[in-house]
Amino acid sequence: MPGCPSAPQEIRDAAGKEFLSTLRELVNQWIESGRLQLKQFGEQPWSRNVQWCSNDFPKPIAKTLLEFRDRNPPLVVLNGDGRFAIAPMGPVGHSSWGTMLSQSIDPQQHARDKAISQFTLLLETRCPQRLFRCDECGRYFVLAREPRKIIKLGTYCSRSECRKRASAKRMESTSKGRHSALERFAAEVWEKWTPNCGSREVWIAKQVNCRTSEIKVNSGKKSERKSPYKPITRRWVTEHMQRIEAEVSKRKSVAAKAGSGR
Ligand SMILES: [Zn+2]
Repeated sequence: MPGCPSAPQEIRDAAGKEFLSTLRELVNQWIESGRLQLKQFGEQPWSRNVQWCSNDFPKPIAKTLLEFRDRNPPLVVLNGDGRFAIAPMGPVGHSSWGTMLSQSIDPQQHARDKAISQFTLLLETRCPQRLFRCDECGRYFVLAREPRKIIKLGTYCSRSECRKRASAKRMESTSKGRHSALERFAAEVWEKWTPNCGSREVWIAKQVNCRTSEIKVNSGKKSERKSPYKPITRRWVTEHMQRIEAEVSKRKSVAAKAGSGR
């Protein structure tokens, strides 16, 4: 077990498990504290903090750390250069199981404190904001650089299957974005249609295709710029009519509000 190699095997195993589960729980809570707004905005690792708690993590890390400090009062040491410093905090290592027994030290609590001590050391490193847990396989990993942008599509480690999942999620999101854009473009011209234009669905599809063909992005080949949108058909307009009409009413109510606010 951490801090007491001479303890019986059974107790060492139980303490080892306690050490790992405590450390994992603290690290998970730490990572989660930056995912507070995940659904609305995305993950913000720079917002991680020790005050955060939730239904899954009812006790703030700060409380755990303060209780740990009270059980293991910090030791102020004098450095060779004459400056005082706080020595790394944690439970004292015991040379024998007998000593632990004679001092009535609870091996489980001892293992938990060892884990908390490791967690405090992690917070002192340059990794706290770069540490992540893969959304696919659950492994922990550290990014080379601290993320500066909000993470919207999850965090994935470098294993090939996890990278594939990340790329599928990106594609899914791009296609969803393009879909909403097409509905938006259709809504923008919806009211401009008149019976003189002929079939509404055909006319709307034509207007949208005219607009999307003008949008060009770099394609696979460096010099080539292509529209990322595939032309839509009359059938597409019919199938998406409800959503387009909902977008039209949304635009109208926004315009009405803006008008009444003047
Ligand atoms: Zn992974």
